Amino acid sequence: MTARVLDGKVVAAAVKAEVAAEVKKLGRAPGLATVLVGDDQASHVYVRGKRRDAEEVGMVSIHHQLPSTISQTDLEKLIRSLNEDPSVDGILVQLPLPKGLDGQTAVRTIDPAKDADGLHPFNLGLLVLDQPGPRSCTPSGVMRILDHYDIPTSGARAVVVGRSFLVGRPLALMLGARGTDATVSTAHSRTRDLAELTKQADILIAAIGAAQMITASHIRPGATVIDVGINRLEDGRLVGDVDFTSAAEVAGAITPVPGGVGPMTRAMLLVNTLAAAKLRAA
Ligand code: NDP
Repeated sequence: MTARVLDGKVVAAAVKAEVAAEVKKLGRAPGLATVLVGDDQASHVYVRGKRRDAEEVGMVSIHHQLPSTISQTDLEKLIRSLNEDPSVDGILVQLPLPKGLDGQTAVRTIDPAKDADGLHPFNLGLLVLDQPGPRSCTPSGVMRILDHYDIPTSGARAVVVGRSFLVGRPLALMLGARGTDATVSTAHSRTRDLAELTKQADILIAAIGAAQMITASHIRPGATVIDVGINRLEDGRLVGDVDFTSAAEVAGAITPVPGGVGPMTRAMLLVNTLAAAKLRAA
């Protein structure tokens, strides 16, 4: 292997330490409300981790576990009560919601000022306008990794494979924003000759949801490869969208899965909650 490994756990620990120091200065513990509907095992694991992180940095975790039989109206009623609750600074509704419930509408019910996940359309709009606001956690976590490891972005060619509202689309906007200044292409399932495009990238981001689809043949020698994907193989192993072994022979730097972007998503939730608490204190 020749590539430098970009360790998301190290960067996440640095971000958490920064947040913990800021929380101390704030003089009160910010509250992060988590709303979990149903019994999806993966969602339970994610939310448990997020609650633990919040407590570790001195925040108060306020958890609401709801049955999958809850109605959309009652779910939104709870979210509205959290919007009004002065002890709550950030609200996270764990997605996806069980069948029959509409996640997008639930997220739209969150007060944009308390949108810990940065997924409210108002906040996505601020991103488009290049104005400050809570940014979606996974893309901003990717940006923090690039920043931490001093990966140059200005004038760099970046290719983002994936155009979801959760990852690919906001990430493309962040990479191309003034001050970051990458030249960005977005690829998706209809892109013709993907490898021809990805091979031009100085920074290649895979946010596809297809296990180990990106191989050495997609990568320009020396490129930085960021793997957002989380896929469970039949043998139980967790792998990314990038075939790490072959990619690491060609790339200059690469994130592993697990231990790359995943820990950053959780860390950036704390950053958003802290920022919301600071704004309310101002
Ligand atoms: P989506 O399914 O919403 O989006 C996947 C995107 O990949 C779509 O834009 C799709 O194109 C594109 N795509 C699918 N197949 C191909 C292909 N063969 N060639 C090129 N593009 C393709 O997924 P998400 O964005 O929500 O998640 C992507 C991955 O990231 C998943 O593995 C998910 O588990 C992981 N993830 C990880 C997080 C973390 O914390 N590390 C957080 C969130 C997600 P089209 O639009 O044309 O359908």
